[in-house]
Amino acid sequence: MRSVTVLGATGSIGESAFDLLMRAGGPERFRTIALTGAANVARLAEMARALRAEIAVTALPEKLDDLRAALAGSGIEAAAGPQAVIEAASRPADWTLSAIIGAAGLPPGIAALRRGGTLALANKESLVTAGRLVTAEAARSGSRILPVDSEHSAIFQALGSDNLENVESVTITASGGAFRDWPIERLAGASVAEASSHPNWNMGQRITIDSASMFNKALEVIEAHELFGLEAERIRVLVHPQSIIHAFVTHRDGASMAHMGPPDMRHAIGYALNWPERVALPVPTLDLAAIGSLTFREPDESRWPALRLAREVILAGGAAGAVFNAAKEQALDDFIAGHIRFTDMAPAVERALALSSREAGFGETPDDLDEVLGWDRLARRHAACAAGAA
Ligand code: NAD
Ligand code: MG
Repeated sequence: MRSVTVLGATGSIGESAFDLLMRAGGPERFRTIALTGAANVARLAEMARALRAEIAVTALPEKLDDLRAALAGSGIEAAAGPQAVIEAASRPADWTLSAIIGAAGLPPGIAALRRGGTLALANKESLVTAGRLVTAEAARSGSRILPVDSEHSAIFQALGSDNLENVESVTITASGGAFRDWPIERLAGASVAEASSHPNWNMGQRITIDSASMFNKALEVIEAHELFGLEAERIRVLVHPQSIIHAFVTHRDGASMAHMGPPDMRHAIGYALNWPERVALPVPTLDLAAIGSLTFREPDESRWPALRLAREVILAGGAAGAVFNAAKEQALDDFIAGHIRFTDMAPAVERALALSSREAGFGETPDDLDEVLGWDRLARRHAACAAGAA
């Protein structure tokens, strides 16, 4: 029986994964090792009971008593705190889904890679922050990384066994998010609630706001660079309001292989869960006649400056990715808290990049977790200062 662990089980991706695991037979089909979450320990305990997990872990130490109470009589272990999440990720499992939000997903993701098995990676932030470290850990232990971001799963599927050397470019699509058609002058006044509603995808709040600002797409450009080893100029972004084509691969001979599907993350998660097999998944079948037309346009970088920053980050190399991601997380926290406007986020990140590189540049790409986390802390401080000045 295959053993599985889900890091970030109570989030949007985690819930989709839970749905797939339960529909596929739950504890009759999978041996669940660990499920982790944070504040919502009631839901975490419910999932752990349903899957008969060995251990449930909340990242929040103050939630341990509640988690223990919710698991009373089940025989399931309970633990709490960031270190306990890492320890849970280190327990042997054949398949681990990394679905924690933000750079907090990096240390447990690295722990899972070190102990081997397959890492289904939704946590794009770990590749943006420490791509070299992540891929080096996988190479060292023989772990396999399968992308779970829909665009990267699409590239992976469209590539098949084709050689990357024959690929001219990859194109990932973006819905354009909540403000795709807003007049640019209105963006400064956009509220958190307005930024938190996505036209096509049902996702966690943070990634939904990142879709409106295209910071999500910027992270994905860097993610594609780290995963597939493509230079910045071979990774393109197109606005595609219908979110049906998730990505396409353009070969040197002029052929482009596109991946299409309804916007439902259970496809990418289910693909990674069953790879290399394809099985029936609870995803609606595509009805192109009903959709009628698929449209595309170039992204306007004055509306979405994050895309320009992503290219600059790839060209800068070194620790620029770690700084970019952490500064973005800080700016997003500040926007959600009401300290800065929607349009202040990109300038805050740009300023944090400039301040962080000012003294010594971004150096060599860090291949040590402590060094990465040091850059992360520095970037958050700079972004907070830049936001204060905004
Ligand atoms: P979410 O906010 O809905 O869920 C996040 C999960 O992480 C929850 O289980 C939460 O308890 C846990 N968590 C939060 N902070 C934590 C911390 N400090 N330490 C440990 N655990 C913590 O997020 P999501 O939308 O499911 O996204 C998860 C990841 O998947 C992100 O990296 C995101 O970019 C990526 N992703 C999401 C989608 C989507 O459709 N939601 C699509 C593609 C990629
Ligand atoms: Mg995506």
